[in-house]
Amino acid sequence: MQTIIKNAYDWAAGFLGQGQPATFIPELTKQDPNQLGVAITTCDGASCQVGDCHVKFTIQSISKLFLLAVALEDSGFDYVFSRMGMEPSGDPFNSIYRLETERAPANPMINAGAIAVSGCIRGDTAEQRAKRVLALAAKCMSVARVERSAEVFRCEVETGHRNRALAHMMQGNGVLDGNVNEHLETYYHACSMLVDCTMLSRFGAVLANGGRDLNSGHQLVERETARLLRTLMASCGLYNRAGEFAWRVGVPAKSGSGGGIMAAVPGRMGIGTFSPLLDEQGNSVCGQKALEYLSRKLELPIY
Ligand code: GLU
Repeated sequence: MQTIIKNAYDWAAGFLGQGQPATFIPELTKQDPNQLGVAITTCDGASCQVGDCHVKFTIQSISKLFLLAVALEDSGFDYVFSRMGMEPSGDPFNSIYRLETERAPANPMINAGAIAVSGCIRGDTAEQRAKRVLALAAKCMSVARVERSAEVFRCEVETGHRNRALAHMMQGNGVLDGNVNEHLETYYHACSMLVDCTMLSRFGAVLANGGRDLNSGHQLVERETARLLRTLMASCGLYNRAGEFAWRVGVPAKSGSGGGIMAAVPGRMGIGTFSPLLDEQGNSVCGQKALEYLSRKLELPIY
């Protein structure tokens, strides 16, 4: 496994320099574009890593999975999915125009959906809601606590004009109640969580393991929730590159604009990759390459 992961790293490293940083979050453009890390954690808890595996970066969109898991626990499936759909949108992650024609967001893995999900989490303040999301994230990634980037959080609150517009449109459409600022802050707290690709691989392994802790077997997220998260990852996890990714890699995965990708291979392993430069759809270029290599070598496609 160590040889295969090293070969995946070497092949993916040939694509360093391709892509763009996430310019829509100015703070993220400060990341070193040449970083690349790949980590695997198998469902029996063994792990191996190569490259920049201990470099911390913000989880960004991958946090949409934790937000959804907590919202389902608090508000239940029927309520959450009365406020959004579960169809791939075919639009960019921060697209606004569909809210004009469709009322509700297409799915919880795009920004509009995740902001609506944040509105389904119980708590009196954004900090209270975020704490619960962080607690679940810490358990699923086997760390004592998850830190946050105060700089990225502030930057998103100050510059996230499109997200603010999405939230207000959804309130106008009747799919987001309460205080819009609080919901945006909850979402940004989740996006600003600092992770490394080893942590992501552990989360992937928990989802691959039916939501159970890898050591104790304790159910960290409901089995049905883990299946729902994997399903949404497979259909909507890489925005409007999810179709090609399903062909090239063929496993449920979720990307984030911080440069991370987390994949869950049912019954086998979780994979975490990190490299900051993104393709036009907002997915790490080298991360996708590393996953493509691993998928072929380890025969991972589920289709
Ligand atoms: N925090 C980012 C935003 O809302 C997340 C987007 C992403 O990771 O793709 O714009």
